[in-house]
Amino acid sequence: MRTDYHDCFGQVFNNWHYHHCQRHATVERDGKWYCASHDPIKVVERREKSHQKYLAKCCPCGWELKEYWSYCPHCGKRKEAKL
Ligand SMILES: [Zn+2]
Ligand SMILES: [Zn+2]
Repeated sequence: MRTDYHDCFGQVFNNWHYHHCQRHATVERDGKWYCASHDPIKVVERREKSHQKYLAKCCPCGWELKEYWSYCPHCGKRKEAKL
């Protein structure tokens, strides 16, 4: 068996169970190996990005705004134009 081959330490949720990711690991983090999609740094980045995306849709009061609303139904504030 080749020593430079590592299985990904990441887990995938499938059929209501966690399974070890079967993919070929390409990055090492803290002595553990991960494939490109389970790289913990990428996972955090992805989570951060989707959180930012969520926040961008929200009114400063915290209410999630729909695309087609021009006013926040919660506090009545006019929705700011987002680029
Ligand atoms: Zn993986
Ligand atoms: Zn609001």
